Amino acid sequence: MIRYLLLALLILGTTLPAAAARPSLDPAGSGVWYEIFVRSWADTDGDGIGDLNGVTAKLDYLQSLGVSGIWLMPINPSPSYHGYDVTDYYGINPQYGTMVDFERLLREAHRRHIKVIIDLVINHTSDRHPWFIAARDPADPHHDWYGWAGPHTDLHAEDAAGAQAWHALGKAHYLGDFSANMPDLDYDTPAVRREMVKLGRYWLKKGVDGFRLDAAQHIYYDFKADMDNPLTLQKNLAWWSEFRRGLDAVNPAAYVVGEVTRDSADALAPYFKPLNAVFDFPLAVQLIDSARDERAGELGALLARTDTVYRKVAGKSGVDAPFLSNHDQDRVMSQLDGNAQHMRMAAAMLLTLPGHPFVYYGEELGMRGRKPDPDLREPMRWHRDPQGTGETHWKAFSAGDGPAVSVEAQRHDDDSLLHYYTTLIGWRRQVAALRDGAIREYPQTNPHIAAWQLDDDASHVLVLHNLSGQTQQVPLGTSRFRTLRLHSKPDTTLQRQRLSLPPYSSAILD
Ligand code: CA
Repeated sequence: MIRYLLLALLILGTTLPAAAARPSLDPAGSGVWYEIFVRSWADTDGDGIGDLNGVTAKLDYLQSLGVSGIWLMPINPSPSYHGYDVTDYYGINPQYGTMVDFERLLREAHRRHIKVIIDLVINHTSDRHPWFIAARDPADPHHDWYGWAGPHTDLHAEDAAGAQAWHALGKAHYLGDFSANMPDLDYDTPAVRREMVKLGRYWLKKGVDGFRLDAAQHIYYDFKADMDNPLTLQKNLAWWSEFRRGLDAVNPAAYVVGEVTRDSADALAPYFKPLNAVFDFPLAVQLIDSARDERAGELGALLARTDTVYRKVAGKSGVDAPFLSNHDQDRVMSQLDGNAQHMRMAAAMLLTLPGHPFVYYGEELGMRGRKPDPDLREPMRWHRDPQGTGETHWKAFSAGDGPAVSVEAQRHDDDSLLHYYTTLIGWRRQVAALRDGAIREYPQTNPHIAAWQLDDDASHVLVLHNLSGQTQQVPLGTSRFRTLRLHSKPDTTLQRQRLSLPPYSSAILD
């Protein structure tokens, strides 16, 4: 009997996922993720290019900010500065460091209860990937890993973005939905699917906590004509379900968030079945509009509807992945034309939404940046002096931000945007419903007030934001919300069921 038990233990021991050995991650964390472009983050070897040791070196900063996890933009070898065209999915970009550096980063992050997810760019490879180089030979098994035009293919077909989808290579043409440098993998080829499941498992075994899936809808959505084709959606979902099942065998708790650039909750919702979440692109537009206009507008209705639609698929509330902007969009402070109050209100709304809000690095300092893309991905400002220790300088600054836009200038200033972000993220640790609550519109008539109710098993709270530059009075009538729990400005008062909210301020009521 004992022998069988030992045998069972041995078998279990060899099949237990690597994740089981990890320290448990902070259960009462803020749930906030932080997106990092490694090249621009922090340089530790003096070449001016950010590196993985730089991410490790700044974990204390991220811990004090209060984030629960980081998303690293691509860290694999790539010929481009951004890394979204990979030449080796199992390797580390030598400009960023080594696998040993990455393993140390994972250990140090987990020690601080910070999770790490990495960008997985598997819709396409680099045209310099050995698979694609081999694929040029029709006799090579890798030929079928990519999409090739047949005799009846319309070579002028538009890709999803409206550009040319097919690219010439000698007499052949291959599919490249984003550019000629990024040939699309063919997911109808079983070997491709097997390889990508293997890849996902490899990184999970290494200790990463999940993935951000680049271009998640473009696995099968290659041509503009397929945008609303139900078969395309069905094939995307089938592939990501297969991928998810593959990951589950290693770590069922892995967090997988997809980039699906759609403009309605209804179009995004189906992806909540195979994935943990997709980024809420339509909400980002509304949050920034509401902050800029100083009016809630359709925000409350959008939030309530999104929660309803997502809950139907995910089976629970608090699953959304809201954000304000990412590496593909003008930075928030630029979208808000440098208005510091509007920036604060955008952040306050973002960070009082249930789910997993994503903050783009430098957003918490108010870094600006408008397209082209490299200008959205500029060096993180650690010091007043851009030549300070650890500062990257792979590119020059474009936006003209002064020394005040730096960690050094803001970290000890109680009125700084950085301090404000830290405070708001801290609210999420204190109030469970801010993380996982079901969201409901709170009916009130003041157009300058954005308000929503959040309910979970542990708490029922009312979130209110005064988006305007004037004090607003909010009558609460006979509602059950009677206690002022948290507020961002000292002269906030609740008397006789009447809330007085100072200009550009936020409050949470129990
Ligand atoms: Ca470096």
